[in-house]
Amino acid sequence: MTDRYASFVQSGAGRTLVKRLGLPDPPRLRRHRPGDPLLPGPALLGAATGGRLAEPVGRILAFAGVEVRDPLTVDADTRFGALVYDATGVTDSTGLRQLYDFLHPHARSVLPSGRVIVLGTPPAECGSPREATAQRALEGLTRSIGKEFGRGVTAQLVYVTKETGNASDGPDLSAGTLTSLDSTLRFLLSGRSAYVSGQVVRVGAGHAQAPADWDRPLDGQVALVTGAARGIGAALARVLARDGAQVVALDVPAAGDALAAVANEIGGSAVQLDLTTPEAPARLAEHLASRHGRVDVVVHNAGITRDKTLGRMDADRWDSVIDVNLSSQERINDVLLERKLIPAGGRIVAVSSIAGIAGNRGQTNYATSKAGVIGLVDSLAPVLRERQISVNAVAPGFIETRMTARIPLMVREAGRRMNSMSQGGLPVDVAETIGWLAWPASGAVSGNVVRVCGQSLLGA
Ligand code: NAD
Repeated sequence: MTDRYASFVQSGAGRTLVKRLGLPDPPRLRRHRPGDPLLPGPALLGAATGGRLAEPVGRILAFAGVEVRDPLTVDADTRFGALVYDATGVTDSTGLRQLYDFLHPHARSVLPSGRVIVLGTPPAECGSPREATAQRALEGLTRSIGKEFGRGVTAQLVYVTKETGNASDGPDLSAGTLTSLDSTLRFLLSGRSAYVSGQVVRVGAGHAQAPADWDRPLDGQVALVTGAARGIGAALARVLARDGAQVVALDVPAAGDALAAVANEIGGSAVQLDLTTPEAPARLAEHLASRHGRVDVVVHNAGITRDKTLGRMDADRWDSVIDVNLSSQERINDVLLERKLIPAGGRIVAVSSIAGIAGNRGQTNYATSKAGVIGLVDSLAPVLRERQISVNAVAPGFIETRMTARIPLMVREAGRRMNSMSQGGLPVDVAETIGWLAWPASGAVSGNVVRVCGQSLLGA
């Protein structure tokens, strides 16, 4: 699936024409390649008075090889790979001025595909209504920066629980890190998050385990990927294997050849199984138990669309979409959890959709199933916290796959362009985001729904 317009715009002749006519200008996004530095330039790190995170974040960045600069000593023409601001010290609305003072002089100095990250305290944990109000206000700032800076720059707000840094969090300060926050900063700064912008990520107090090697953050993990024969699932299988996981790739028997090709390519195993059959959960559990004895990462990616407006939709379309996209996930979670095949440190990641957030014409069945996936995350994450299993969802926007290639041309073109990146995402963008949520180092990230949509206007 190719976006010919984006390729044209990135060519010399295309650039001139697009500028003259004021057409959408999709930038070339910085995507991760193993061995790449986290950022294309230094990070400027600032903090509001009394911020509790600037110091450990400075250490995380330095330990990750980022050159960290101080706002008091930078000269005017320095260009930055990232602007990072600890806003946890902002305790009322007048204090928000400190963000303006930090960001305004450097707003035009962020390199293409650079990053803006603001760190705050979850409003529900704030000590006063004024503090909660100011912390909530940070959302409007970061989301607007995502829409304003352009050139592939992303902007995120990370709410970090006040419990971070307590003894129970296991901070490994000798290694220069606050483990629970480390994986999220690395993901958001790197090219892995190329198509993630305008998001609010919550980092809680769950147990996080730093990897021996950040280039292989899934070393030794067993990961199940459903719907792995093509599209997002195939990209995901490749990313998880690249990051060190042993991948069990599952898809329907009809996709057996494509599935075997993916599994062979990455040295994983293939399971041909239709998830909607009554025997599927037990067969899958037996396979995982006998071959691996456990499954550390479960990614529910298999999904289908059967679009029709509600008045024209037959019951088969309704039933099949709810069954593949939602009920089968519940059945599989139940059996794997009951049989204790997902150990402490386990990860469940479910694929939702921005249609599940915003709704979509002709997709009542699909949007219902995908909103249900978000409900599954909301309800399961607190229950599984005790077992140290995290549960998160990703909600892709317009991703270039066979699913979106079937959309009629004009609707497809609108979906592609109506986001801050003026382009569709690639399967690898969703895969990298799921990869981050699956890392042992991301145990403090649970109950989140992260959109991978280039900050789509839909569901914003
Ligand atoms: P795709 O159609 O290319 O791949 C889906 C895979 O799931 C296929 O290989 C299919 O055989 C498999 N599958 C379907 N039913 C199955 C069953 N009963 N048992 C086992 N496997 C089954 O789709 P994609 O675009 O790669 O989408 C992957 C996920 O991302 C889906 O959940 C989809 O809803 C979601 N999503 C995609 C987009 C997008 O823009 N492509 C946007 C939002 C959400």
